[in-house]
Amino acid sequence: MKLSKLACEIAESPTFALNEEARLLRERGEAVINLGIGEPKNKTPIAAILASAAKLSSGEVKYTPPDGLPSMKKAVIRYTEENYDRLVAPENVSITNGAKQSLFNILYAILNPQDEVVVIAPYWVSYKEMIKMCMGIPVVVTPEDGTFTPRFEDIERVITSSTRAIIVNSPNNPSGVIYPPELIEKIVAMCEKKGIVMICDDIYHKLTFDRNVAVPAYHFTKKDIENSHIVVVNGVAKLYGMTGFRIGWVIAPRDLTRIMSNVLGQTTSCVSPIAQAAAEGALNGLQSVVEALRLQIQNNRDIVIQEMRTFNGVRLIPPDGTFYALPDIRAFSNNSLEVSKFLLKKAMVVVVPGKEFGMEGHIRLSFAGSVKDITEGIARIKWVLDPTSPNEIYIGDKKMIRDLM
Ligand code: PMP
Repeated sequence: MKLSKLACEIAESPTFALNEEARLLRERGEAVINLGIGEPKNKTPIAAILASAAKLSSGEVKYTPPDGLPSMKKAVIRYTEENYDRLVAPENVSITNGAKQSLFNILYAILNPQDEVVVIAPYWVSYKEMIKMCMGIPVVVTPEDGTFTPRFEDIERVITSSTRAIIVNSPNNPSGVIYPPELIEKIVAMCEKKGIVMICDDIYHKLTFDRNVAVPAYHFTKKDIENSHIVVVNGVAKLYGMTGFRIGWVIAPRDLTRIMSNVLGQTTSCVSPIAQAAAEGALNGLQSVVEALRLQIQNNRDIVIQEMRTFNGVRLIPPDGTFYALPDIRAFSNNSLEVSKFLLKKAMVVVVPGKEFGMEGHIRLSFAGSVKDITEGIARIKWVLDPTSPNEIYIGDKKMIRDLM
């Protein structure tokens, strides 16, 4: 069959591919530890379960308006007003199938062919592919070696008359860094001055550790949502651990929201009202669930840092947020794909190659899972890579002796 050239150029999502590989290995009885996918292990918050169950048992499960149920929008408006200190109208909100669709819809609604979108490395895997799907050109800014925070001058340098947008993801997947407020302030000023859309992927905005906070971009402009170039993406996947409900949303000026709503209406019609009711329940329910998750993840982060300290040769910039760490493994190899394959083959540990995030020579570890998985997973990685670590290890019930490099 003849296929679309554009579609064929879109890469498979590496995290989902690895997840599937891990699942198949586990099915074969292998003792796989998955430090690949970013998915908290918590149960769905009870408020979300009750709200979606009530919707289901009402028997009224029909199409909703393409941009979302009015009651769900109301919950999002309240959330935004509380967390971002911004007045929001229902016409500024669109509810989507996950934050992923939010990002895609924004790009689809603002890009003409060959328009450029600035992406900061290390970047989340889907940005570049989504930009390409919308016929745009991703322009990557890479921070200086040894840091995950770009210099503003390096961002400014790549801006051209074709730049339509910049995607800012802080706290950042995959590095866990939070960009300093001064950088966000400068990006906001640049975008407002040059009419560039600043897409803030805020999906991890409350998952921050110690005293660190991710200051919202809105903080640095006096303009209201209607007149600003800031567009904010959020969702329930990470903060509430509700990845499977597929609920995200965009806060944007009305003209952009209207176009995105038309796109939604012609593609998915709307998001399932059962999932919308669940997200509404989560947003209106007890917010201590988010804090409980944050504390658990912060504890996991502390364990990662502690375990990494005794990992000879590996450098780690401690994550200030999210549930990812991106250690530098160049002391062992520059080829992160080979290392990741090797780790899976020899130690049954899934990690994601840094290459996928524009950061070769690194591997991404997710610490969203259990403490046992994290400690055992890192011990196995050490066993494979670090010759000074103990020679023997148990993988499942098999005693293994290092025979590797
Ligand atoms: N943005 C970032 C930075 C992410 O890490 C993810 C999920 N991995 C998403 C967006 C997509 O979130 P959702 O599951 O709501 O589509």
